[in-house]
Amino acid sequence: MDMKTQLQKHTQTNTVVTLFPSVYIIPAHLTKKNTSSTYRKSAATCTSPAVYYYSCTCGEKGTTTFTSGSAAGHKYSNACDTSCNTCGYTRTIIHSYKTEWSKDGSKHWHGCSVCKVKKDEAVHTYSNSCDTSCNTCGYTRTVSHSYSAQWSSNKDKHWHECTVCSAKKDEASHKPGAAATETTAQTCTVCGYVIKAALGHTHQYDTDWSKDATSHWHECDCGSKKDSASHKWDGGKVTKEPTTSAEGERTFTCTVCKATRTEKIDKLLPVATTQKTEIEAPAPNTDEPLTEEPETEAPITNVPTTNAPAVTTHRNLSDMNKPPRDDKAPDTVSDKGDSTLLIVIAALGACLGGAVVALILVMIKKKK
Ligand SMILES: [Zn+2]
Ligand SMILES: [Zn+2]
Ligand SMILES: [Zn+2]
Ligand SMILES: [Zn+2]
Ligand SMILES: [Zn+2]
Ligand SMILES: [Zn+2]
Ligand SMILES: [Zn+2]
Ligand SMILES: [Zn+2]
Repeated sequence: MDMKTQLQKHTQTNTVVTLFPSVYIIPAHLTKKNTSSTYRKSAATCTSPAVYYYSCTCGEKGTTTFTSGSAAGHKYSNACDTSCNTCGYTRTIIHSYKTEWSKDGSKHWHGCSVCKVKKDEAVHTYSNSCDTSCNTCGYTRTVSHSYSAQWSSNKDKHWHECTVCSAKKDEASHKPGAAATETTAQTCTVCGYVIKAALGHTHQYDTDWSKDATSHWHECDCGSKKDSASHKWDGGKVTKEPTTSAEGERTFTCTVCKATRTEKIDKLLPVATTQKTEIEAPAPNTDEPLTEEPETEAPITNVPTTNAPAVTTHRNLSDMNKPPRDDKAPDTVSDKGDSTLLIVIAALGACLGGAVVALILVMIKKKK
């Protein structure tokens, strides 16, 4: 637009310019950036500023445009909103995940502090059916233990124990039953735990000897025996003298336990028989023939033998105390002298007559 045209346009509305053209600078036509809504071509958007038409003081609106201000920018509800509320533009965002776990009854996760979105979400993990705490997030749950019906015990207490985790319930001290005996233990009346074992048996041998016919021993009430041995018999003692009509008795005593046994002593042979034999056995006198009495010859040779048993009737009491088997030999030996004497006397008696001899014999015996 040339000066003339501009002047023509502006003189109609501004007479001052006409009156003082030399001092008044005539503004260029349509060069004004008026941002009133009158000249706005388009409002600002998310990404571009508002557009206006150039204008002029003369009131005319041009056809060329200029931008003013800045773009409005996308509008999001929050830091995690990915879609522009104005234009629908979609952006990518980074959530602000918390470092600590969020959790509920079955799961745990890391939550965004802005929009609550979850990541790392997973069910809780437990070591076993009794584990009450999640190995990952520490969530605590309540569990039902699998308690054994059997009692568990130690030396002081009993309890029911979980077969999975060994948790205890019903734990209590033992309740002692009857005291232990030799054969029965003392147990807990609740769980059967052996509090004190059976005492066992310690032999208590009687200090007195027990005995039977052949041996002696010390005995315990339970029947156990010790020190068992055969009796040690002493030499024996005549406790009843034998007579011609009754047997005697010798008593032996065990030197250890004082048990006794007896043995019989044979009856004595009758004395009268012996005397009669001697009387009827007068020694034959060869000097004086007694042919009319031939039967007296036989008894002479019999004298020594018939004397032997007769002598036993004269044994001393001290001889009696010797074992019977030893009796005969010494007795017969010691009586030999008497036998010889008797033979001589008998021979003499043959001279003097049987009646006298018999009398002498009786007197000799009495002297003894
Ligand atoms: Zn103008
Ligand atoms: Zn937008
Ligand atoms: Zn978020
Ligand atoms: Zn968990
Ligand atoms: Zn358990
Ligand atoms: Zn118990
Ligand atoms: Zn015993
Ligand atoms: Zn004995």
